[in-house]
Amino acid sequence: MKFISTRGGAPALDFEEAVLAGLASDGGLYVPEELPQFSQEQISGWAALSYPELAFEIMHPFIGDAIPVDEQKRLIEETYAEFRHTAVAPLVQMDKDLWILELFHGPTLAFKDFALQFLGRLLDHILEKRGQKVVILGATSGDTGSAAIEGCRHCEHVDIFILHPHNRVSEVQRRQMTSVIEDNVFNLAIQGNFDDCQNIVKAAFADQSFLPEGRQLVAVNSINWARIMAQIVYYFYAALALGGPQRKISFAVPTGNFGDIFAGYLAQNMGLPIERLVIATNANDILHRSLSSNDYSKGELLHSLSPSMDIMISSNYERLLFDLFDRDGKRMAELMSNFNGGESIHLPEAALERARKLFSSARIDDDATIKAIAEQFDKTEYLMDPHTAIGFEAGRMAQAEVSSPMVCLSTAHPAKFAEAVERSGVDTEVALPHHLKDLMQREERFEVLENSLQSVQQSIRSSIG
Ligand SMILES: *Cc1c(COP(=O)(O)O)cnc(C)c1O
Repeated sequence: MKFISTRGGAPALDFEEAVLAGLASDGGLYVPEELPQFSQEQISGWAALSYPELAFEIMHPFIGDAIPVDEQKRLIEETYAEFRHTAVAPLVQMDKDLWILELFHGPTLAFKDFALQFLGRLLDHILEKRGQKVVILGATSGDTGSAAIEGCRHCEHVDIFILHPHNRVSEVQRRQMTSVIEDNVFNLAIQGNFDDCQNIVKAAFADQSFLPEGRQLVAVNSINWARIMAQIVYYFYAALALGGPQRKISFAVPTGNFGDIFAGYLAQNMGLPIERLVIATNANDILHRSLSSNDYSKGELLHSLSPSMDIMISSNYERLLFDLFDRDGKRMAELMSNFNGGESIHLPEAALERARKLFSSARIDDDATIKAIAEQFDKTEYLMDPHTAIGFEAGRMAQAEVSSPMVCLSTAHPAKFAEAVERSGVDTEVALPHHLKDLMQREERFEVLENSLQSVQQSIRSSIG
């Protein structure tokens, strides 16, 4: 399978190269030239498969012969064996035709484990074959960092450096990262905010000459194709559990960078009968504005109770726009350049109509988030984290527009965002799961650095010699 850039100006890559590349050299994102297509019979035939078996069926057409088949199966098996629920992604019924898909049973309690636990293993395999070592560099406001560190801690060919804003991530999130004491894991606490961390990472990627000979940087943010690929699986899994593909299904997805929900869009394009995908945003509503008032333009970054969705720009939306603009890379390059200059992207009428056939959207602010957590706990004693509550509230509201079961993606365990949950006034203890019970007592290791590119470059150089 070949992967092409959304901006039409970079060479096509094969699977391995696309995983290692991150951003394309023209600034675009890689997408498959063509998607695999599954027939209804083929999908029906998967009804009895376990999660890892299904994951292999769905990911194999993308990976092809880049990795031997038995190796692919082993990497997938090992990844999902780490999850602490035998169904891996269990469904919980909340009401008639209203479900929650729990995606927080991985080692770091957020849905990002689905992709990042796999990506770590995949990278190590590819690098072993190539006889290469790389440096993963990323910035995190919380969930990505801990999942990436957990996914890479046993990798022999990867050193991982994760920047987080010093004193600005929650204690649980920090400890999930800094209590991983391995020789290839480096936590750098930057004396600045998340944007400062991201800017340092961007600058380091732009000029990698500070690295020792033969090393390159690899990105693990959600623009990495392998992450999207791994997330397609649970859309099929949920549909099969609820009578699909004979019966249609809808999903509501709490959305930030548009990675998770883009995987749902791909599932639909690969043959899964999805009736509706609901984009649920917090007050950072660039996606909701694009769909509801055809205005995709940068707003101001707002801090919400759902910090993993606090974004100004949804990077993966470019992948959808590429399709909506009929895969015209030249046009995309122009649009994205204007967008970065402050202009709004307007969809042509026909494209907007096409998008609205599948997608709807809702903006759920902090007050509505807290209210949803409290109401649901009151009614059923089911406790949602703030991100999940946003998806749930948007899904509940959209039920009137659909005739299929609505599945709301639960993206994090409530204990990961205990403060926000407590703000809702629920009268219960928000406890960490058993395997993290001693998290607050574990030894931590991290380095505090001044807010500058040089200090980070120096730290990386001295750590990996
Ligand atoms: C990352 C994250 C999201 C947003 O996912 P995107 O793929 O960026 O849309 C939602 N909830 C939680 C808990 C997350 O960690």
